[in-house]
Order: sequence, then structure tokens, then C-alpha cells
Amino acid sequence: MSEFGLHDLPLRDDLRGRTPYGAPQLDVPVALNTNENPYPPSERLVAALAEAVSAAARGLNRYPDRDALRLREGLARYLGHGLDASRVWAANGSNEVLQQILQAFGGPGRTAMGFEPSYSMHPVIAEVTGTRWVAERRGGDFSIDPDAAVAAVTEHRPDVVFLTSPNNPTGTALPLETVARIAAAAPGVVVVDEAYAEFRREGTPSALTLLAENPRIIVSRTMSKAFALAGARLGYLAAHPAVIDALQLVRLPYHLSAVTQAVAGVALDFSDELLGGVKQLREERDALVDWLRGHGFRVADSDANFVMFGEFPDRTAVFRGMLERGVLIREVGPPAWLRTTIGTPEEMSAFREALLQVTG
Ligand SMILES: *Cc1c(COP(=O)(O)O)cnc(C)c1O
Repeated sequence: MSEFGLHDLPLRDDLRGRTPYGAPQLDVPVALNTNENPYPPSERLVAALAEAVSAAARGLNRYPDRDALRLREGLARYLGHGLDASRVWAANGSNEVLQQILQAFGGPGRTAMGFEPSYSMHPVIAEVTGTRWVAERRGGDFSIDPDAAVAAVTEHRPDVVFLTSPNNPTGTALPLETVARIAAAAPGVVVVDEAYAEFRREGTPSALTLLAENPRIIVSRTMSKAFALAGARLGYLAAHPAVIDALQLVRLPYHLSAVTQAVAGVALDFSDELLGGVKQLREERDALVDWLRGHGFRVADSDANFVMFGEFPDRTAVFRGMLERGVLIREVGPPAWLRTTIGTPEEMSAFREALLQVTG
């Protein structure tokens, strides 16, 4: 008797043959593959989290605040730029935020556009919500040519445009003029995925400054990277209040648990402490870029907590060699390049040592 399997189920035709998202979760000494923050919460923060979770636990017989108003007020305060709760929305990771955006503005018969190489989940979330994906290319230096982008947007009339800045996996930040020009030409909404915003170098602006002039720009952020809170699942966005109204139509009721809301609120209270770790990671990143270039590697300029470097005729061999030495990085981006997350100073010396051994 043959095994009952996926192919026996009345699965949607457009989901057949797909594989689930799967960055490896391997037990290795040095995990530098998913852009996590290497610094765990301090004991002081752990204690504050435990206290907030205890308080939330006493009310778990009730549904949570459906609109997460207090948390959204806190997030708006953190973002600044005159934002308030009516212009901020939160969900379980920015991936859920992006899914809600596509549920509201994408869907069957609609189109989303991105500029690749970029975050691999954008096309996945688009297609799983039934949205057609149009992939445009970034230039050789991983920038987006504004004229070409405006032409693409004018030709395809996408309902949703994704601009990742700083971009994953290249680390490239976009000039605000590029975002503004694309947004002015785009007929639909423009999502600026700023998952790595806190890591950008001095003088690199955020698209938050464009919100006031264009009500169709959406800036998405996450606590998974700079806030060192990937395990808590909290993503959020800033946009015009009308965009928030649209997202309320598609969000599941009570999507953000009382525990998540409490944890994220405490993380905001500790933002100074958490962002201190970001400063260290930025310095470590800049040092790694210099070191790699000093050793003759090509490195994309990075405004994020990772670095894309190359070029390797056989990047899989380098990836495997690193893994054999206990250092897990990521095979992602253009074929000859690899990406490493920035870890602690100890993790980065393990990275450097392994890379020299593998390529030397
Ligand atoms: C890591 C990442 C996210 C974050 O996803 P979460 O669901 O918030 O953990 C979003 N966008 C990009 C470009 C990322 O690299």
C-alpha cells in the first residue's frame, strides 16, 4: 500500500511542487546564517520580561487587546517622525506584516514587483497569497537604477512594489530619491522593507521621512534583528492611517497574543540597552568589510548586520568547508557570493580563521 502524501490531497494547484522556506537550523558552534543578533537578553531584561509575562499570564483567560494599542503607541514613539498609534501596525514578525499587506493589496489578478537579488520571502509571500510576482534586476553594484525602475513600474503597473533597504542579502541601502521616484511612478503601494534600518551607516536616511509626502508608502520594521528578539516574533510598520484601516480588514482577530504584546513592550523599554549592541555590531561589520577587502575578497557595501562577499567559482565548496569548521554561513545572492551575519568578536575571529583555511 502506498503512503498517503501531499499529492493525494486537494492542494491548490499553484502550491504543488513548492518547498517550505528552510534556512537550516543546525546545531553548530558559530551560526551566522539568519542575520540574528548574537547578544542574548541581559539578566536585567530577562527579569523584566519574566515579570511582564507573569502579569500577562494572570489575564490569559481573556483575549488580548485586539488592536494592540499600547504597543503601537510605544512603537510610534520609538520610530519618532511625529508618528502615533494610528499610523503604526504590528503583527507576528514582519513576515506577517508583509503577508497582511499582500492580502489587502495583492491577491489573484494582482501583481507585486521586487528588485533582485533581494529578500527571498517577498516572492514567496506574494505567490502564496495568489499575487503574481514580477522580478526586476538590481545593477552590478546591487543598486537600483531609478530610471529603469520607473520604466518597469510604468510598464507592469504593480499593485505592490517591494524595496528592501538596507537590502538583504547585499546590504545595500537605497537613496531616498530612488524610493521617492519609484513611489511617485507606482500606481499601488510601495513597501520599503527596513528590517535592518538600525544598522545603517551614519548619514543613510530612512524612508520614514517620506511618509508625510506620500500616503502609499509603507515602511516595515522588525524586532528580530536590531532588538535581538527574533524568538518573540514582532514586526511592525508605519504608514498612512488609511493603510492601517485596510490591514484591519485582513488581520485575524486577536492575532497578537497578550504574551507577545507584553514582551515587545518591555523590549521597547529596554531599547537603549538593546541598541547599544547594535553599535558594537556595526563596528564589527565595518572591521570585517575592511579585513575581507584587505585579503582580496570583493565585498558589497553593507548598511546591515551582515556582509555579502565573494567571488567564488565554487561557493558551495567554501560554504561546506566553513561548515566543516563549525561556521554556518549562507549560500544566497548571486551565484559567486556568500553572506555572513555579523556575530560576536569571538565568532568573527572563528569566521576569519575558517575562511582563510578554506580559501588559502
Ligand atoms: C529578517 C528579515 C525580515 C524579518 O522577518 P521577521 O518575520 O520580522 O523575523 C524581514 N525582511 C527582511 C528583508 C529580512 O531580512
